[in-house]
Amino acid sequence: MVSLSEQDLMPGDVVVDVDYSTVNYKDALAITGRADVIRQFPLIPGIDFAGTVEASTYPGIAVGDRVVANGWGLSQTHHGGYAQKARVKGEWLVKIPDAFSTKDAMAIGTAGYTAMLSVLALEHGGLTPQRGDVLVTGANGGVGSIAIAILSGLGYRVVASTGRLEESDYLRSLGAADIIDRRTLSEPGAPIGSERWAGAVDSVGSLTLANVLAKTRYRGVVAACGLAQGMDLPASVLPFILRNVTLAGIDSVNAPQEVRIQAWSRLARDLDLSKLARTTQVVGLAEVPAIVGRMFEGRIQGRTVVDVNA
Ligand code: NDP
Repeated sequence: MVSLSEQDLMPGDVVVDVDYSTVNYKDALAITGRADVIRQFPLIPGIDFAGTVEASTYPGIAVGDRVVANGWGLSQTHHGGYAQKARVKGEWLVKIPDAFSTKDAMAIGTAGYTAMLSVLALEHGGLTPQRGDVLVTGANGGVGSIAIAILSGLGYRVVASTGRLEESDYLRSLGAADIIDRRTLSEPGAPIGSERWAGAVDSVGSLTLANVLAKTRYRGVVAACGLAQGMDLPASVLPFILRNVTLAGIDSVNAPQEVRIQAWSRLARDLDLSKLARTTQVVGLAEVPAIVGRMFEGRIQGRTVVDVNA
């Protein structure tokens, strides 16, 4: 173990007093070393944080501003959010909309912002609530939970795919109209099947994404943002060339600033804060390793906010 002080923070033009970070799936991969997320040691993990600016020489970011950061090099090549202070490039920061506290911003966190990026991609592909059902896979997870809340708030009829049918009440409280067993999507299937949903937010990948594509309706749109089942995609081109299906890739890490600002302003408009609260638990830094273990066991629901000062 290595102790770090404020002097050890990396170069940047803004210093932030961090209030909250979170535990995302990528944090679990980073902390356990299951994937090569952390590229240099010692490094403070935490792929996102929210807090208040203590010092800034970056134009447009002032002392006292409430800001959120996620992605870029955080927890990869730059110290991340599991600390009371962060020094980062001002261009990595987005001002938190007035609708949200710093805790709300991290209840959303990378997962919720990725859910919003996915919804924006569906809209970009022409999806509207009138076109039919929207499927959300990995429904009990962070991305899935917030995607359900956003989509149902926008008037979509949401179908939630989950391995935890016993959590149906939770999923319905977020706005799911229908709930299906994820095993109906996770085994090898036909390259094209009956048309079931007009769109999907998929955080699972692998066979699930292949089956989702095979059952997507004509001119439907699927946003692929995750790999909870696996990073492979054993699919055929038939959904694309017979059904004109669009597969939209989602990357939250290097998304341009204007896209981030759009996503956060849409979250402020379209995410019901009472539903967000339902998805969220708050823990201290010391509890993060236990949360990570439960995440890999598939026992974490929704979002875990980390109070770095607890
Ligand atoms: P969580 O661990 O919170 O949720 C993942 C969910 O996926 C689980 O709750 C579970 O839902 C489902 N799941 C888990 N294992 C399997 C499996 N073997 N087969 C099918 N479903 C499974 O993770 P997040 O929501 O934070 O992230 C989800 C995915 O999105 C991750 O792969 C993550 O890396 C990725 N991601 C990508 C981003 C990007 O920039 N593209 C940004 C953020 C996340 P249930 O119990 O309901 O079945």
